[in-house]
Amino acid sequence: MVADGTPSTTDILIIGAGAAGLLAARELAAAGRRVCLLEARDRVGGRVHTLKPAGFTQPIEAGAEFMHGDVPLTKALLQEAGIAWVATAGRTYQLQAGEVASDTSYFAQLPQLLEKLEELPQDMPLAAFLAQEFAGEAHATLRTFATQFAEGYDAADAQRVSAWALRDEWAAGGADDSPRPVGGYGPLLHWLAGEAQAAGAALHLATPVEAIAWQPGAVEVRAANGAIYRARQVLCTVPLGVWQLAAGQPGYLRFEPELAMHRAAAAQLGFGAVIKVVLEFQTPFWHGRLPELEFLLSDAPVPTWWSQLPAATPQLTGWLAGPAAHHLRHAPAEAVLQQALESLSYLLDKSLHEIEAQLVGYYVHNWGNEPYAYGAYSYPTVGGATARAALAAPVADTLFFAGEGVYEGLAAGTVEAALVSGQVAARTLLARCPR
Ligand SMILES: Cc1cc2nc3c(=O)[nH]c(=O)nc-3n(C[C@H](O)[C@H](O)[C@H](O)COP(=O)(O)OP(=O)(O)OC[C@H]3O[C@@H](n4cnc5c(N)ncnc54)[C@H](O)[C@@H]3O)c2cc1C
Repeated sequence: MVADGTPSTTDILIIGAGAAGLLAARELAAAGRRVCLLEARDRVGGRVHTLKPAGFTQPIEAGAEFMHGDVPLTKALLQEAGIAWVATAGRTYQLQAGEVASDTSYFAQLPQLLEKLEELPQDMPLAAFLAQEFAGEAHATLRTFATQFAEGYDAADAQRVSAWALRDEWAAGGADDSPRPVGGYGPLLHWLAGEAQAAGAALHLATPVEAIAWQPGAVEVRAANGAIYRARQVLCTVPLGVWQLAAGQPGYLRFEPELAMHRAAAAQLGFGAVIKVVLEFQTPFWHGRLPELEFLLSDAPVPTWWSQLPAATPQLTGWLAGPAAHHLRHAPAEAVLQQALESLSYLLDKSLHEIEAQLVGYYVHNWGNEPYAYGAYSYPTVGGATARAALAAPVADTLFFAGEGVYEGLAAGTVEAALVSGQVAARTLLARCPR
């Protein structure tokens, strides 16, 4: 390293040790390139963060938790790592105005909505589409559920999210089948880090990069601790939230010279906020009102909840996403916890005191305010496909880009998206930059 001011030199620097960066590191190191990963946090994984806070009997997920839809690369890597996955189990509920309705399809009007979306000749934001095609009191429920779903599942702003992209996602049924890796996603990312290092990659944690100075075939990367790294190429995997920061804001990553087209593309894309509230209780006392609860959508301030079924751990996870989570991004954890407990009091028809008496552990993660992320995951905006391609475009066979924010495909906003983008970027780099 560079404590004495001597630059460290390698073939390829990878900024970020999340899913995209770690898989790319493994591929590039296995191909015989000298690789050095620079990671701002003191841990690998990025938006995958499996941890066991005080009061919890099992590890919990602060970030990614489920395998949404068809995720072939994730499954292949889990298999290679010897990690199993398990399907979720139990019943899905909707609760509105204090009334409980069990509803396994949890969006009965989806066919009606999809029919109109299929006919839409021009892409537009979801909110504009709903106002145009489903105006009036008769469609109020449909509008509410479509908006709640886009905000809750995609962490999207209905005023910006692409109606066409939601059509493709909803038609593919992405949320229907969502198993979990056993023991969480964390072990997969740690295994990938081990694989990359075994193939020869160096990993520097707690090394936030402040600036990437570049010219064709040569980059100089400056870290916050004063260390300087030189290489032939950089693969930058920082989240869209980092790209979207303005110059001068904490966490801003400078390119010298600047990448005006990449910055403009990043500004056009959507990056949603999420607050996750994980609660462990003495007993699964909610079974009285919501037997075999797996998943709950509601009109409570913290509207979405799920259990760990089929695991019996008495744990509930509350989920607030999209504009509502963005609005609360600076709220203290205690204030969010209070909202979550009040939501449960309403949903379970129990006093706050009864809920609090059951509580043995809580953990709040507010991703909208999280350094090195500044949000949870990307969502498709109108014109977003062009912007994603622009953000992913390599520069002068020297700067390469990966991460879920630049992935194009149906698994947007997922670990799969990040892994695929890392693999694609690594293979593009190998093809375009022979040694
Ligand atoms: C609350 C939440 C729930 C989610 N749920 C799911 C789910 O159920 N299923 C699913 O598949 N996906 C889910 N996701 C999305 C998934 O976690 C991400 O898409 C994926 O992990 C992103 O990987 P990445 O490598 O693109 O980015 P990241 O994991 O963010 O990795 C980028 C890395 O860059 C580092 N970095 C940033 N700035 C700098 C800098 N200046 N210098 C050095 N390093 C820097 C960061 O610290 C980070 O480690 C969820 C995400 C969140 C936040």
